Amino acid sequence: VKFVYDFTEGNKDLKDLLGGKGANLAEMTNLGLPVPPGFTITTEACKVYLDSGAEPVALRDEVSRHLAALEERMGKKLGQADNPLLVSVRSGAKFSMPGMMDTVLNIGLSDASVQGLAEQAGDDRFAWDSYRRLIQMFGKTVLGVDGDLFEDALEAAKEAKQVTDDTELAAADLKKLVARFKKIVQTEAGRDFPQDPREQMDLAIKAVFDSWNGDRAKLYRRQERIPHDLGTAVNICSMVFGNLGPDSGTGVAFTRDPASGHQGVYGDYLQNAQGEDVVAGIRNTVQLADLERIDKTSYDRLMQIMETLENHYKDLCDIEFTIERGQLWMLQTRVGKRTAGAAFRIALQLVDQGLIDETEALQRVNGAQLAQLMFPRFDEQARSEQVGRGIAASPGAAVGKAVFDSYTAVKWSRSGEKVILIRRETNPDDLDGMIAAEGILTSRGGKTSHAAVVARGMGKTCVCGAEELEVDTKRRRMTVPGGRVVEEGDVISIDGSTGRVYLGEVPVVPSPVVEYFEGRMHAGADDADELVEAVHRIMAFADRKRRLRVRANADNAEDALRARRFGAQGIGLCRTEHMFLGDRRELVERLILADTEKEREESLKQLLPLQKRDFVELFEAMDGLPVTVRLLDPPLHEFLPDITELSVRVALAESRKEPHENELRLLQAVHRLHEQNPMLGLRGVRLGLVIPGLFTMQVRAIAEAAAERKAAKGDPRAEIMIPLVGTVQELEIVREEADQVIAEVQEATGTALKLAIGTMIELPRAALTAGQIAEAAEFFSFGTNDLTQTVWGFSRDDVEASFFTAYLEKGIFGVSPFETIDKDGVGSLVSSAARAGRATRPDLKLGVCGEHGGDPESVHFFHEVGLDYVSCSPFRIPVARLEAGRAAT
Ligand code: ADP
Ligand code: MG
Ligand code: MG
Repeated sequence: VKFVYDFTEGNKDLKDLLGGKGANLAEMTNLGLPVPPGFTITTEACKVYLDSGAEPVALRDEVSRHLAALEERMGKKLGQADNPLLVSVRSGAKFSMPGMMDTVLNIGLSDASVQGLAEQAGDDRFAWDSYRRLIQMFGKTVLGVDGDLFEDALEAAKEAKQVTDDTELAAADLKKLVARFKKIVQTEAGRDFPQDPREQMDLAIKAVFDSWNGDRAKLYRRQERIPHDLGTAVNICSMVFGNLGPDSGTGVAFTRDPASGHQGVYGDYLQNAQGEDVVAGIRNTVQLADLERIDKTSYDRLMQIMETLENHYKDLCDIEFTIERGQLWMLQTRVGKRTAGAAFRIALQLVDQGLIDETEALQRVNGAQLAQLMFPRFDEQARSEQVGRGIAASPGAAVGKAVFDSYTAVKWSRSGEKVILIRRETNPDDLDGMIAAEGILTSRGGKTSHAAVVARGMGKTCVCGAEELEVDTKRRRMTVPGGRVVEEGDVISIDGSTGRVYLGEVPVVPSPVVEYFEGRMHAGADDADELVEAVHRIMAFADRKRRLRVRANADNAEDALRARRFGAQGIGLCRTEHMFLGDRRELVERLILADTEKEREESLKQLLPLQKRDFVELFEAMDGLPVTVRLLDPPLHEFLPDITELSVRVALAESRKEPHENELRLLQAVHRLHEQNPMLGLRGVRLGLVIPGLFTMQVRAIAEAAAERKAAKGDPRAEIMIPLVGTVQELEIVREEADQVIAEVQEATGTALKLAIGTMIELPRAALTAGQIAEAAEFFSFGTNDLTQTVWGFSRDDVEASFFTAYLEKGIFGVSPFETIDKDGVGSLVSSAARAGRATRPDLKLGVCGEHGGDPESVHFFHEVGLDYVSCSPFRIPVARLEAGRAAT
């Protein structure tokens, strides 16, 4: 095998082998762009090293050969005393990863060659500056010395000289600093800074390899589900110098604006600087446009190169460049990150420029970006006072009064106040307050902190880890930078999409994308919003491509109509339980408490017309499209009063000697129905089987509603879904009764009804016996929420707030299995059940109605296992449509 590739030998498609940076350096080299010569050590070499603990034997020789060729080409040798070749050693995995080793620049400098470099460049200061940078970077990243020690020494040197900029240090100062740095290395690393240039290079290469298995890198891979065996490549690149004086410098640029997508000149430039200075914020950068004034030739060349790159990559690119005494060098490029809005606009711009086609455009955007664009946001026109910024943990725009504990959050929100819960960090005790709050703000913790995980699960706006904010929960106040104090009750605004925190109330504007889906804003008009236009056209691409149909989870006509506007092709899950609440609760209570057949029938009779009316409205709203109605699912006691409250009432009445016969009966019933574990108790089909007449009443309501719609010349397409089935026998019994009721209604109304009867697959046993169940079911709908709970053996309500944070931090989950389907476990049951079901009944209709139906990654999975549709909440429908389209390309 070949372990080393010259930049002239690679190309952009070799990312697996050369890493992202190496592959793109090679691509630019082959495009004829000015890239400093160099070579890349492959990920294969890294893998051998990681597996065996030693570099492959052939590697040393290969590196020597490529180094020799490089030296020959450059006309100087690595670290050569009178005229040294210097190189950078740069890590570069397939995916860029925090926690990987940083780049070491200026490898090859030593006590001897620093003199040679000074003479060659005619600049002492430059040479010593480069040398001190090398010892600093090498000490920190290769030898593991605490970087602050170097920073402190640099600060001290500036202070001693009473200057603020590192550029104001003269050669003599830097020379002293080098001596100081070497001391630090000696004490901290227990060895001298290596003077042999090849040893410097080899140690740096090894350090890059080793960093693949650093703790942070490993954790990041677990969380992002990046395989652990990819390894990293190492790039050896001859140095060019931006720190050679005012005619030199370094910069970063984008080929178009990553915020708006518009073409133009976007970037930053810093004169007389090296490497990361430009992003490290050590001095003020100038805008890229100013480079035209500073160095017109380089500027023009850069513009030309950016155009070449865009046309070549057919996408927005970001680049790193350096100018050495008027000569422009390209040091990196890659397809650039962009905001959600820009992703849509750029994709469409590129289609219109003829650079990419529709299919490719769909790959350039994703559902997460679309979801982000659908949140309401703060009015950008409003002048608001930003006081801090944290991590954008859960999107949305929230305004409310500051509260600092869960109790107050609940109390205030009960009295109608909007509150923002502010904590240093949250824990399971804060849950009530988090539910009550409009949004959550913490000063500690990252994207997997308790606050972030729980808020995302609840769809609640959250900014976490806003470290500049000093939260004092004891005194119920928060101090913002500059010393201003936010007291309990002061209004603040937080933006979960950007992480920004504002004082006072910032006005919220609805998302133009939602306005568009709602039909209040139109694409195609002359003054149409550019973003809306892009979303409109890209959604059309997706709809043309996708095979999966998208339905909504909706329980009433209003939601159904909204879902239709958002593009729903039916209802995949209508829950009937809400229809039993409110003023109907009393009827249900009576049904549950009925002592005699007659009493029970009486209450059922009263419920029937109410249920029927619900369905008539729903079928009308979804006229012509399928509506899957799920029969009653939750445990009965949910319809009865709270056990404690009721006990108190009974005790009170008793002590006052008031009549309380009814309360007592109720209390007994509540006790009787009380379950340790209602999730696994008397619910779903089990209820239907033990409460006579309950399911048949619901089926009758559906059938009569359908008949009524038909009489009104409507086109109702009801499907009856039986929940929580574990065995085909359960389904058969319910089915038999349902068929009979339907027959009766047909007879009575003289209307032919086609009502499909099917089941949820939400218990492992149902999935495992899907072949049998399909005998009695015309469709399956995978209830992946319950299936996830029962397959993992934990209940969502109990665990998300307790141990999920720990699991995410330990990397056991990359993401909650309630957010994205667990393909290996739950998913494999879904796919085997789908196969078994279809083996029994080839025209079995298959859908999914858990929360996963609107999750991008899960939608792709459902496409792959051959489901017919996904069903999700109305708001997620556009996301599901888009992802279904992307999955089909
Ligand atoms: P990162 O992945 O953190 O961007 P890089 O390998 O790109 O790391 O390098 C860090 C900085 O050093 C960048 O600004 C890059 O442009 C600069 N740099 C890397 N190699 C060289 C080189 N051979 N000559 C000059 N600057 C370099
Ligand atoms: Mg870096
Ligand atoms: Mg870089």
